This record gives sequence, structure tokens and C-alpha cells, in this order.
Amino acid sequence: MSNPHIGVLALQGDVREHLAALDGAGATARPVRRAEELAAVHGLVIPGGESTTMYKLAHVFGLLEPLRERVREGLPAYGSCAGMIMLADKILDPRSGQETIGGIDMIVRRNAFGRQNESFEAALDVTGVAGGPVQGVFIRAPWVESTGADVETLARIDGHPVAVRQGNLLATSFHPELTGDHRVHGLFTAMVRAAH
Ligand code: GLN
Repeated sequence: MSNPHIGVLALQGDVREHLAALDGAGATARPVRRAEELAAVHGLVIPGGESTTMYKLAHVFGLLEPLRERVREGLPAYGSCAGMIMLADKILDPRSGQETIGGIDMIVRRNAFGRQNESFEAALDVTGVAGGPVQGVFIRAPWVESTGADVETLARIDGHPVAVRQGNLLATSFHPELTGDHRVHGLFTAMVRAAH
């Protein structure tokens, strides 16, 4: 497929930036707010933002189960930061009642980098992304505490995975949508193309 349609879950978070990055990576990007829109895309990005709010809105708008179902069926999905949290099978320190979509066999720690280091940037070598390091922007970012056997770690900081892939699912602790470098979205777009 040369022109995949990729949705961005548009309940909360930096939706516009992901739409622009997908566009820059050669996909046709559109916001997804309803189950019918979710049914019509070939892949889905879950943006950065606040995972507790995103969970609540997904629940209230009746999107949580459709999201879980589509991911279970194999829909390619990419989550950045809060989106990584949403794709984790388990989170270590959920706000009370907070649930995820799940799909990646990993345990994620929210706000893992701590107060003193709440926001920072780091150049990262990301497996599968050619052309030199990716500038990782970390904003109250999670890290991956542990992964199951089927999860490939693509990048680490201080030993902690900050980019992972399991099959059609991709997640990063950082925000490539904020840098103007579209290579991570390019990797995801290639995953969507390969899946269809
Ligand atoms: N700390 C946020 C959360 O728990 C994630 C922050 C982000 O997406 N920049 O959802």
C-alpha cells in the first residue's frame, strides 16, 4: 500500500503535531474520535499528553473497548509518551482506576525520570531508524521497567528501554512529533504499509 491512512487518537494531547509528522512521513493523516473513524484507518498513533485523562475520555466516549479490539486484531499502533503508557499491558503506578489499551507485553513506570529531570533532551540511536541519532524530547516521560520475550528494545537511556516494538506495535517514551524529524513516523508508516 503506497498511501496508508493513519489516524491520530484525538481525545487529548499533541494531536496536531502527530498529524503534521505523519504527513511529513508520507501518510494520509486524520484525527480519530469515534469508533467509525477508528474502523476506517490502517494504523493509529496515540499521542503524548496525559494518560489518565486520555483513559477517562476513551472510557466516557466508549472508545476503550473498540481500541482494545482493533489492537488485538492486529491494527498497527504507535504511542509516544502518554501513548506508550496506553499501549502497555501493565503500568506500575496508575492513578486510581486508570486502565490502558494494552497490547505490548511490558510494564511501564509513569513519570519515571523524576522531578529534577522532568524534561530533557537526549540523542538516541534507535534500531530501525537510519541516518544518525534521533533527538529525543522527554517530558514527564515514562520508561519501560520490564519487557516480555516478544518485545524488542530499540533504544535505551541508562539501561532503561525508551523505545520498543512488539509486532505491529511501536512505543517511545519521547516525542519525535516535536522535532521536525519525521524518521520515527517514517518507521511507523513503513510498519503500517507492511501490515496491509
Ligand atoms: N506523565 C504523562 C502521563 O502519565 C505523560 C507525559 C507526556 O505524554 N508528555 O500520561
